[in-house]
Amino acid sequence: MLTPLQAWTTGVDDRRGRPTAPRTDRAEDRLGLEFRPISSTAVPSHDLQVGVLALQGDVREHLAALAIVGVTGRIVRRERELAEVDGLIIPGGESTTIVKLAHHFDLFEPLRQRIAAGLPTYGSCAGMILLADRILDAPADQDTFGGIDMTVRRNAFGRQVESFEERVQIDGIEGAPITAVFIRAPWVEEAGPAATVLARVDTGPAAGRIVAVRQQHLLATSFHPELTGDARVHQYFVDMVEHGAHIEGQTE
Ligand code: GLN
Repeated sequence: MLTPLQAWTTGVDDRRGRPTAPRTDRAEDRLGLEFRPISSTAVPSHDLQVGVLALQGDVREHLAALAIVGVTGRIVRRERELAEVDGLIIPGGESTTIVKLAHHFDLFEPLRQRIAAGLPTYGSCAGMILLADRILDAPADQDTFGGIDMTVRRNAFGRQVESFEERVQIDGIEGAPITAVFIRAPWVEEAGPAATVLARVDTGPAAGRIVAVRQQHLLATSFHPELTGDARVHQYFVDMVEHGAHIEGQTE
């Protein structure tokens, strides 16, 4: 039995009996080829429209995690698709590539504005980097959508060979600690006063490092909860969307 991390990095997932998506940073390999809407057998528990930004990264896994909590996720790759969602997930992948493609698809400004206007948004790994107001170890010209008062260091936990899993307790998520999968993951070097720290790494050389943060309608994790089959982080975010969609609607 492969661990979620092994499945992710080897491209084979024997828990689900099928190969995972090809792992490549080549945008052309990912665009339009790899991700399909989840099965029509998924029954949404309510009418929330939760989008997954589908420019690059592990989009399919987030759609599957949303399905576990009863939400039919929607792919967002165009401005008109962004306009239709009540909440958005920015998946892990490669933040520099996601930014380039967001510009290419004329999505960068609309995304930045919608996030600033209160769209509930969850960024995992590369998505965390993209929600940070300040980043370190990034190309000098790398933009972010911003929104969370934090400084995030890219690739802080090391390169892909140094990826690891760890049990992490997240404030606001009840029950056992969740299994957090870190893949070339960032950490939060510093959380500013507007941001609330939800989780830190407990053990090992990175003990004490911040790996989950919330600021009002925005949530970010250094790790990939979508790879574990435990959808409690997605449930937490969907709860935020239910609440946040209401707030955003009031301010318009
Ligand atoms: N290191 C990647 C970046 O800088 C993030 C890795 C990930 O999302 N798993 O964007």
